[in-house]
Amino acid sequence: MSPDPLPQLVCASANPDKVAEIALVLDGLVDLLPRPAGLADVVEDAPDLQGNARLKAVAVCAAAGAAAVSDDTGLEVDALEGAPGVRSARYAGDDASYDDNVAKLLDELERVGAHTPDARTARFRTVVMVVRPDGSELTVEGVVEGVIAPARQGSGGFGYDPVFVPVEGDGRSFAEMGDEKHAISHRGRAFRALAAALS
Ligand code: IMP
Repeated sequence: MSPDPLPQLVCASANPDKVAEIALVLDGLVDLLPRPAGLADVVEDAPDLQGNARLKAVAVCAAAGAAAVSDDTGLEVDALEGAPGVRSARYAGDDASYDDNVAKLLDELERVGAHTPDARTARFRTVVMVVRPDGSELTVEGVVEGVIAPARQGSGGFGYDPVFVPVEGDGRSFAEMGDEKHAISHRGRAFRALAAALS
């Protein structure tokens, strides 16, 4: 008897780094199909991560006529009442670079007087959502706790990696890690939770 075919999911992300990471976690569990070519970017203007994940998955599901999987991530800093959160990509402005966003984050923590590690606690949160053509949804989440470093450490990774030091690590920032990051990262955890929910 031949094994059941793998569930097919269209990936809502077109970012090659993210797609490679997602494909790695879902390898052998999901047949991951590329986002339809030419589909316009979705305006991510929902008030929370789940809302943005839903906007992306619904748009790609409608365009592809098949189940779609999307993800949305935010960095939540306790001393900043959860900011930048859902605005992580645009924290320092609509066209902000990763470096602009990190600079603003360090400035804001300085402004509120958050100097000690205890005052600089934070977490990355990723929401992953599957939306199917019948409208049904599956949502999972991945979180990694950490501390915002006083200054950039390391040159790898992207986004806020140079200032995010996971509590489960040895003091290195995500930007100082290689593939070890994926084992504990918010996105790795969220997609492994998806794999478990689908299997
Ligand atoms: P997205 O929802 O995955 O596009 O993430 C939104 C923003 O969060 C990105 O533009 C990055 O600034 C930040 N971000 C997401 N994932 C990571 C990560 O793994 N490391 C550092 N920053 C991240």
